[in-house]
Amino acid sequence: MEIDELNKRIKECKKCRLSETRMNAICGEGNLNAKIMLIAQAPGEKENRAGKMFIGPSGKVLDELLNKAEIKRHEIYMTNLIKCMLPKYRKPKQDEIKACSYYLNEEIKLINPKILAPLGYYATCYIFQKYSILSPSKAEFSSIYGKLFLGGDKKILPLPHPATLLHNPDFKQDLIESYRKLQVLLKDCKWYPVCPMKRFYEEGKLDRKWIELYCKGDWESCIRYQMEEKGEFHPDWMLPDGTLDEKYIGRSGKNN
Ligand code: SF4
Repeated sequence: MEIDELNKRIKECKKCRLSETRMNAICGEGNLNAKIMLIAQAPGEKENRAGKMFIGPSGKVLDELLNKAEIKRHEIYMTNLIKCMLPKYRKPKQDEIKACSYYLNEEIKLINPKILAPLGYYATCYIFQKYSILSPSKAEFSSIYGKLFLGGDKKILPLPHPATLLHNPDFKQDLIESYRKLQVLLKDCKWYPVCPMKRFYEEGKLDRKWIELYCKGDWESCIRYQMEEKGEFHPDWMLPDGTLDEKYIGRSGKNN
């Protein structure tokens, strides 16, 4: 299916009760070759009226966060887990998620982004379930925002929904930091060409997940990277999370 055909189906969809209260079902928007797909929960009131994504107060916050991350809207693809407004901003019901996520799954297939950034609790739970990643409890949920996960061939970066800032302006710096990770993920670590992790991976000694999560992912969080930047000694077999792989302790002690 092409994107135009999919969007036509979204606009005409009557698969769940939300079709009775919506004004517009909102299709995804943005770059069809995007590396990053943002997945919000559902449209708000302004979006529902105008039939466009992120034009209300959350959209303003999103623009500011993307701006700080030096990412332009036209570089990414944005969509919702639920395509129609939830009456009085109530929580989505499981049967609504089940019915509507068909469209999101098709969008992921068509756009094929490398990075999925679900915004907020429901979008993140859905994406984690889809890619068989264990969700944390609701109480611990905020701890995963801004952290990178791997699911199949996708990198998954859960982010707080921009609307968080409308209710809790004190979290602004935290949100800026989390969204800035999107920019980090677009580039590989500058040390990768000379890093022992590359060599060990190519020799088949190191699991690919380390390369994807750190060297070609969130290299800023890599302990090796941080120590390299400070000129601090670290053994070849120190893994990116700072642990030593005991199989190799004692075999080498050189810096990068
Ligand atoms: S292990 Fe760390 S320092 Fe080495 S290339 Fe990967 S991210 Fe960079």
